[in-house]
Amino acid sequence: TSLKIYEFIEDILTTFQPELEKKAIKVALQIPVTAEVNVDKNKLRHVVNNLIQNGIKYNQAGGQLWINVQISQKDWNLSIKDNGYGIAKDEQERIFERFYRVDTSRSRQNGGTGLGLAVVQEYVKAMSGTIKVRSQVGVGSTFTVTFPLELKDDLG
Ligand code: ATP
Ligand code: MG
Repeated sequence: TSLKIYEFIEDILTTFQPELEKKAIKVALQIPVTAEVNVDKNKLRHVVNNLIQNGIKYNQAGGQLWINVQISQKDWNLSIKDNGYGIAKDEQERIFERFYRVDTSRSRQNGGTGLGLAVVQEYVKAMSGTIKVRSQVGVGSTFTVTFPLELKDDLG
């Protein structure tokens, strides 16, 4: 089904307003306002929720999130960038494993099961998409999900 991605992201952000305010995290959106994408709305909601939640949880007070959507010829992508703690190179592959959490006192303090990204990756695969992370310790992280514009089994 066709989804107005800008409104969809704004609605999700509304639900995070209390957490964003509590940590004084600013959000910058760069999303084409009229863009529509064919996507499994419930799975996408789950994916975006988890990535935003991590972007808040593993960010410092006064940090920032950038949410970008780009539509190209064959696919579209959504990236969620933070200027939080970042993830070391050797941990970057492991964070998608079930129950894996980077072992820092920070992670231990921040409750969580370590399942978030494992489920996100499963959903992204089920949506014929891909997920990538770019990150640098002390600088921040960017998670990018890319999906085909046309769904093979649902041309709408
Ligand atoms: P859950 O999502 O189940 O509540 P979680 O957040 O610990 O728990 P994941 O979302 O799977 O689990 O993330 C795995 C680990 O990857 C986290 O514990 C954290 O160490 C690291 N991580 C994930 N996202 C970020 C991020 N944006 N910045 C820094 N570290 C991150
Ligand atoms: Mg998480």
